[in-house]
Amino acid sequence: MYERYRVKPETKIDLNEWDPADRSAFDGEKAAGRDATKKLNKQLESLQELLYAEGKHKVLIVLQAMDTGGKDGTIRHVFDGVNPQGVKVASFKRPTPEELAHDYLWRIHKHTPGRGEIAIFNRSHYEDVLVVRVHNLVAEAIWQRRYDQINAFEQMLAEEGTTILKFYLHIDKAEQKERLQARLDEPDKNWKFAKGDLAERAIWPQYQEAYEVVLSRTSTPHAPWFIIPANRKWYRNLVISQILVDTLEGLDMRYPQAEEGLDEIVIE
Ligand code: AMP
Ligand code: MG
Repeated sequence: MYERYRVKPETKIDLNEWDPADRSAFDGEKAAGRDATKKLNKQLESLQELLYAEGKHKVLIVLQAMDTGGKDGTIRHVFDGVNPQGVKVASFKRPTPEELAHDYLWRIHKHTPGRGEIAIFNRSHYEDVLVVRVHNLVAEAIWQRRYDQINAFEQMLAEEGTTILKFYLHIDKAEQKERLQARLDEPDKNWKFAKGDLAERAIWPQYQEAYEVVLSRTSTPHAPWFIIPANRKWYRNLVISQILVDTLEGLDMRYPQAEEGLDEIVIE
């Protein structure tokens, strides 16, 4: 149903052709959308328990977006009710000196999921071809190689049993303005406002271009990108929840075989 948001491998992406306010895949308004997401939350809760019990698959979810794009809100709403024991969130900030002394995947790899786990990346190795590219933090010859390196890294993870889903939360510049303004106006949101975000906003087109290259070059059969219309938070949560539930259902998981003779046990 939400296949329309999947980026087919080796497709040139022009983000102007993707409507951040789209809601055409759901036949209903906000309230109905929220109800549908609540139902999906319950399904995800059961599927996560099954994933953990079976202990076979590993699931990696990558979230990328412009500032205010909704990465934190997605994690809060999509995983509402899921047992925190089985889900790990890793947020990738500006690298520390120790991280910078290593290759850019060093800090990433140790946060990838183990068997039975879901790992959510709030930002990711993609920053190393986004902010790093836009600000020339390393030479072009170095970041240009990284697309192939990232594809190879993700292919290795997939071959080792990791199911990978990557979501780009697509908002437009006007929506970002509103959300930044809310961070200024609402005292409880002030902490989220970083003056540096305005400098990044000023180079919006460069970021969009960097995202287009990422989406065009790194959406693969084993690690697809989805471009999620994210101007409407309820729609964003609904679409991501549905894609996750569909993907986990597709893993065809089974509870492990119970020990023999359980039906004869009488507990005194
Ligand atoms: P936030 O997600 O608002 O907490 O901000 C995290 C900041 O860390 C963002 O400005 C990112 O661009 C920055 N960041 C994350 N990864 C990297 C990286 N590999 N190199 C440089 N900056 C990064
Ligand atoms: Mg920020």
